[in-house]
Amino acid sequence: LTIKDTMTNIAHTWEMHCHSTFSDGTLSAQGVYDLALERQLEHLVLTDHDTAAGYRWLREHGTLSDTLRLWSGAELSTVWMKRSVHIVGIGMDVMSPAWQTVEARYDQARESRFERLLFVLRREGLTLDEAAIRAQADGATLGRPHIARYLVDTGQAKDSAQAFKRWLGNGKVGDVKQSWPELEQAVADIVDNGGWAVLAHPHRYKLTWRKLEQLLDDFTAAGGQAVEVSCPAMPPAMRQRLVDHCCERDILIGGGSDFHQPEVPWARLGFYPQWPSLGPKLVDSLLNS
Ligand code: AMP
Ligand code: MN
Ligand code: MN
Ligand code: MN
Repeated sequence: LTIKDTMTNIAHTWEMHCHSTFSDGTLSAQGVYDLALERQLEHLVLTDHDTAAGYRWLREHGTLSDTLRLWSGAELSTVWMKRSVHIVGIGMDVMSPAWQTVEARYDQARESRFERLLFVLRREGLTLDEAAIRAQADGATLGRPHIARYLVDTGQAKDSAQAFKRWLGNGKVGDVKQSWPELEQAVADIVDNGGWAVLAHPHRYKLTWRKLEQLLDDFTAAGGQAVEVSCPAMPPAMRQRLVDHCCERDILIGGGSDFHQPEVPWARLGFYPQWPSLGPKLVDSLLNS
């Protein structure tokens, strides 16, 4: 593969990482599903932050097509070595009481984190109307993006990127993560409920390769099976190293767009770099499961 090839996002038949209004996406779960249909996807895994409520909603009330298979999923927030790390889970039994307990724990963690966020951000001099932010989120799993949107709407930030850069991003005052479970716990929550655990967007953690290898080792030791390798905007050198790492250890190769909203051109639903030619693919394991 040339560097250019590995940078280009192409149309896939699978989407294994995307968000709806059940977390911080801007389309409803049905909206995401309909867009996936329009893009002629064949498999859709909805992976809202810390909840599979969108999947349950679609199963109960949604309009589904025979040509697009819907899979359960969620992107779990975790802590690893005091850093935020995300684990995507695919195919869990999300109707079971055991899984609902997992989600309830996350609901509580998000609530206490939201309160803490309001506190630390107000201390920075920001004006935050809790009721307005909650109303805007409308029952979604509350996160930093909802606060960012509020700061933009009230003219306290120019745009969402600036809000993250100044207050909400990694290492900033609003990077409150003490409520999340450890990585090992989240992997167990996924695997014990019949799902596949996938390390999300490894290029987004600002880790040296050495540190990232440590994360990969801890992740697989905990029972994690796959790593996102085909991600938009992942540096090609890192992709190559990840592919080598996965091939040597029989770790499954995954990926996805991390779609949140149609307006973002580099994370369109179903578009991400092509699968590397080498290495076991998560999609094959899912199809055979
Ligand atoms: P939270 O779930 O509250 O921890 O928020 C994390 C979410 O914020 C991520 O899933 C992204 O959707 C979004 N996010 C993270 N960093 C940025 C950034 N620099 N600019 C805009 N959105 C971001
Ligand atoms: Mn998000
Ligand atoms: Mn993420
Ligand atoms: Mn995501």
